[in-house]
Amino acid sequence: MTSSSEGEILQVGQVIRERWKIKAKIGGGGFGEIYEATDVQNHHERVAIKVESSKATKQVLKMEVAVLRRLQGKKHACKFYGCGRNDKFNYLVMSLQGKNLADLRREAPKQCFSLNTAVRVGMQILNGIREIHSIGFLHRDVKPSNFAMGRTAQTMRNVYMLDFGLARQYLNAKGEIRSPRSAAGFRGTVRYAAVTAHKNKEMGRQDDLWSLFYMLTEFLQGQLPWRKIKDKDEVGKMKEEADLNILLEECPDELHLFAAHLKTLGYADTPDYCYLESLLNKIISENDIKWDDPYDWELG
Ligand code: ADP
Repeated sequence: MTSSSEGEILQVGQVIRERWKIKAKIGGGGFGEIYEATDVQNHHERVAIKVESSKATKQVLKMEVAVLRRLQGKKHACKFYGCGRNDKFNYLVMSLQGKNLADLRREAPKQCFSLNTAVRVGMQILNGIREIHSIGFLHRDVKPSNFAMGRTAQTMRNVYMLDFGLARQYLNAKGEIRSPRSAAGFRGTVRYAAVTAHKNKEMGRQDDLWSLFYMLTEFLQGQLPWRKIKDKDEVGKMKEEADLNILLEECPDELHLFAAHLKTLGYADTPDYCYLESLLNKIISENDIKWDDPYDWELG
């Protein structure tokens, strides 16, 4: 990554609100740019700052702030430190995490994780998804680069959910399920999107879990059959027609049951998170996996 260049919203050395000093750009993609910074008012604690240009046609940071605030105190949420805006940009300051799961998988030998690592990371993601659903929101972009491991001794074995830019409230103020729209634009990332999204239908809670299912498959196999196909409709068709016996070749039987449960769910249904958790727990106990085993990237 370049440290400063034209077109970037913040410059290294810049201080926001006399408090957060920009150190480096660490990500930038879809909607915003992510910077590492230090808190000069608090022992130079390292933080992450997500910024969005005021000129951006799609303003999503407001949604991110709303979701992250409601998630405070949950295990898989970054700490919220502040937010604000000026005439040039909107910003969100949160705790700085370590590497995301897409980078960790790509750095792994054979680009896959062991069953031991995949199932424990999968369990944490399942719980993270359950947390966001519990506050009435869908994530709608569940994918490996939107989950990161912690960075400090206390947090490095915990998975954090990132990026609520595509989140959507599925409950209204009364706590009832909002009526689904008859058509909704495609949201998310082609490789991990649920078939519902490919069909431009309103997404439900099960669709975040379908994305987790595709992630788990990719973690274990190192790839998904549609990895090289760019055409959204073609990928949607492949997912719909996928033979799970081939997709899940050499994966534990419990993943078939995982998908079978998701197949029973429609927009308004509440997924049986406890059942899905019990399936992953079964893989853990049958394979003698322990929670304090090292993760693949911790093995030297
Ligand atoms: P975008 O919406 O632009 O895709 P994301 O929020 O998905 O931005 O972040 C992009 C990348 O930046 C992530 O994949 C991750 O590697 C990094 N990142 C985002 N938030 C943090 C954070 N709090 N700590 C560390 N890295 C982060």
